[in-house]
Formats: sequence, structure tokens, C-alpha cells
Amino acid sequence: MTTEHSKKKRWSRWAWPLGLLAAGAGSAAAFLLRGCWHTKMGWPVREGDHSYRVCLGCGIKRLFDEKRFRGYGPYAYDVKELIARERAIRMRHRRKTA
Ligand SMILES: [Zn+2]
Repeated sequence: MTTEHSKKKRWSRWAWPLGLLAAGAGSAAAFLLRGCWHTKMGWPVREGDHSYRVCLGCGIKRLFDEKRFRGYGPYAYDVKELIARERAIRMRHRRKTA
């Protein structure tokens, strides 16, 4: 085994818990704001070329990836704001790859 290989292995081991930690911090902040963990999300709703789900407890929204069948990105009460943010991220990505 080369040193390069073991370096990669160490990284993937840490990437997971770090990602979970970030996601946990996000929902903890939402709980502090509304007293709701958003564990009960409704069915995905279409809005233009995006989908989102609404929390049945407090009405907060989150974008939903239909292909991977999971929510992504931050929570917000304004869907238009979520979509605008998502578009901005995509545009930045496109500029980077182009
Ligand atoms: Zn909620």
C-alpha cells in the first residue's frame, strides 16, 4: 500500500462524521428557532423545476432531490428564497466548470 492510498482512506473516514455534524448543527438551529425538529415532512411539492417538502409540524420548507429521494440544502420558510439560493449555487458551479 502506498502512502497516497492510506491518506485517501483516512480522509473518507473523517468526511462522514463531519458531514453528519454539519447537518445536525443545521437542524439544532432550526429547533432553537421554532421548537421543531422537522422530522415529519410532507410529500414533495413541485415548484417550477424544483421540488420541496413542507414540515408538517411548523411549515418550514426544504428543497428535495427527486432523483436521490432526499432533502438537501438549508431549511427556510420562503421557498422562493431557497430556489433563488439554489440557482445561485448552480450558476457558480457552471462558471467554475466552464
Ligand atoms: Zn418543523
